[in-house]
Amino acid sequence: MLSLYNTLSKTKQEFKSLNPGKVGMYTCGPTVYSYLHIGNIRAYLLSDTVRRYLEYIGYEVRLIKNITDVGHLTDDDVAQGDSGEDKMVKAAEREKKTPEEIARFYEEYFKQTEKELNIIPAHFFPRATAHVPQMIKIIEGLIEKGYAYEKNGNVFFDVTKFEDYGKLSGNTLENLKIGARIEEHPDKKNAWDFALWIKAPKEHAMKWESPWSVGYPGWHIECSAMSTEYLGNTIDIHTGGEDNIFPHQEAEIAQTECYTGQKFVNFWVHTRHLLIDGKKMSKSKGNLFTLEDIKEKGFSAMDLRLLFLSSHYRSQTNFSWEALEQAHKNIQRINDFVLNIEAIASRDLVSPKTIDTKAVVEKFEAAMDDDLNTPLALSIFYGFISDCNKLLAINHIDSKSAHSILTLWKKINSVFGFILSGQAEIPEEIKLLVKQREEARNGKDFKKSDDLRALIEKHGFILEDTKDGQKIRLAS
Ligand code: AMP
Ligand code: ZN
Repeated sequence: MLSLYNTLSKTKQEFKSLNPGKVGMYTCGPTVYSYLHIGNIRAYLLSDTVRRYLEYIGYEVRLIKNITDVGHLTDDDVAQGDSGEDKMVKAAEREKKTPEEIARFYEEYFKQTEKELNIIPAHFFPRATAHVPQMIKIIEGLIEKGYAYEKNGNVFFDVTKFEDYGKLSGNTLENLKIGARIEEHPDKKNAWDFALWIKAPKEHAMKWESPWSVGYPGWHIECSAMSTEYLGNTIDIHTGGEDNIFPHQEAEIAQTECYTGQKFVNFWVHTRHLLIDGKKMSKSKGNLFTLEDIKEKGFSAMDLRLLFLSSHYRSQTNFSWEALEQAHKNIQRINDFVLNIEAIASRDLVSPKTIDTKAVVEKFEAAMDDDLNTPLALSIFYGFISDCNKLLAINHIDSKSAHSILTLWKKINSVFGFILSGQAEIPEEIKLLVKQREEARNGKDFKKSDDLRALIEKHGFILEDTKDGQKIRLAS
């Protein structure tokens, strides 16, 4: 039985979906005003792992991931995230483009990055700018019910009207009074009220007609609008990074629950931050790496995937190149193992021993059931590789076992989500020997060709002549 740590209850809880066999899931998506960094990737990888494992255990998942292309203001570290300039507008000024051009460009980059990480695309990526009418409808409803008020063309949510305010983050109004920073707004009744609609200055680049003013929505309302639009009033799982908890998702709860009168989310699942030198990696601090930075250093998206799965999603992780190097070695090890097993599966070897893969599956599932313990799940598989390698060394894995190992790998990799290179990592000096052997063969110098093959084997590599040319793999 899967249990997940629920930020709302602050405990691990057995997961049950609202509708049998089906899960509605929402992930706070990117603000598309600059390149995604690898901290963001960690948050989307958590969402992917939740989804993959739910599908593994048989649920049909519907995942919605929004694209924030309006309303996320620059001062979101301060109070309610409704002060400062719109991040999209600011980026447009910086890059001398329209906000729409900015949004489409970085949305495309985000999708491409997710693809390289083998993150399964959400079923839908709704854009905030395409849902302004839905947001206006909710705001109207909130005003009607007395939870929101308008002043000078701005609309605010009155936090004192929602008793449960603070239930996700612990930032109840009582706690908030103690020394927190807050940007006072002259139109607010209470300091902690947050903006639902903001009147736009004349020259503002992104604005819409509304009953209150020509303006634009606050950041938080978009997720309430898109979540209810595509998943209904109550959803099973909502994910995000830990910085999303407050003010953003606390506000999502307040707006949605006051509007619908129903519980908004059953399970809140958050990843802790990826740090760099002990500090949160963030776009605004600029202390970040992108996937391109990773690739420039010779690493792959899969190295990064493995690095992130190697630490539990609820532990803060400091990024280091050494850890990435280790992740690279580990993925290569998995790759080489699968290559060896594939080679045996394609032959007709018989051995007195057969491998029991059932126990591995059971341990894997127990690890994942325990709040998605991917580091443990990986180490179980590494242990299995070590055991198998010992048997491979004495030719005790036959083709039948090799097939069941490959079935096991396919099954658990539907959760790990690795795309293996399918190539052994060959040192430069071996590549040179392979090239020399090819030349010897082409020149019909078979003695030299055989000697070179023997030398290559001595280095622990096996060379196979196939119809597509020479293929090299690690000897098991
Ligand atoms: P943003 O585009 O800034 O709205 O962030 C997109 C997602 O990345 C959100 O879910 C954030 O919580 C998450 N996020 C941002 N920085 C980090 C980080 N350093 N580590 C993990 N997740 C992060
Ligand atoms: Zn959100």
